[in-house]
Amino acid sequence: MKESWDTRIQRAEHLATRSEAARELLTFYATLLRAQKESYEHLRGRKGWLPSGALEEDLPVVRATVHGLLRAVEASGPPALVEEARSLARAGEGVMDEALLEQWRAPSDTRFFEKALLQPYARWLAESGAQPLGRDLERREGRCPFCGGGPQVSFLHTSEPGAESGGRGLVCSACLTVWPFRRVVCASCGEERPAKLGYFQSPEYEHVRVEACDTCRHYIKGVDLTRLGLAVPLVDEVAAAALDVWAHEHGYTKIELNLVGL
Ligand SMILES: [Zn+2]
Ligand SMILES: [Zn+2]
Repeated sequence: MKESWDTRIQRAEHLATRSEAARELLTFYATLLRAQKESYEHLRGRKGWLPSGALEEDLPVVRATVHGLLRAVEASGPPALVEEARSLARAGEGVMDEALLEQWRAPSDTRFFEKALLQPYARWLAESGAQPLGRDLERREGRCPFCGGGPQVSFLHTSEPGAESGGRGLVCSACLTVWPFRRVVCASCGEERPAKLGYFQSPEYEHVRVEACDTCRHYIKGVDLTRLGLAVPLVDEVAAAALDVWAHEHGYTKIELNLVGL
């Protein structure tokens, strides 16, 4: 699976024109992705600089990306986030620095701005070959092998030429790294008894399903690229927002909320 900021942006824009129900969400997500792409390019394009992996040290450069994201949210975010963006813009550097460091050390999927700001940084960190420092997260199956972040979305893909069958992968919620994962196993607790694992779909999205576990009561959405090769897991996951509503109604907790808070 080859994903870039551009393929994500294009997919969000495309799906926004197709889905009445998720149009607003996807339009906002596309704006967010454009701001994240700008942040990423700022970091990547900075002459004579590579991230150290210690956020504290890299903050002076990362800080320069804050304004662009706040502006994008102010321009097209939902009212609560617009309000928060304004207050963060007023609060000054120190407050945002602390919030970013806290998110780096102990990630939370409910800190929208911090998560959105750190994704481009962590992506560039992964690509530039630095190691994330000061982030002592538990390393276990189901966690990103690069940064320890939780999985945002699961996907099935067709086999590589020469391989016997297709595989499953997870996408990291923090650095967007993709890693292979066993097919029939809960990404949260490792449950592998088929009777405890449920898959739920709605006819509206034939290539997206809820992958739920009755042992830990967590779920993640899975995007089936063998059914729809054009899908972009991170974006199609957001588009299938109705499945989150269904999962919450049935008492399941998402392993990691996505950037639009679902
Ligand atoms: Zn990661
Ligand atoms: Zn589980």
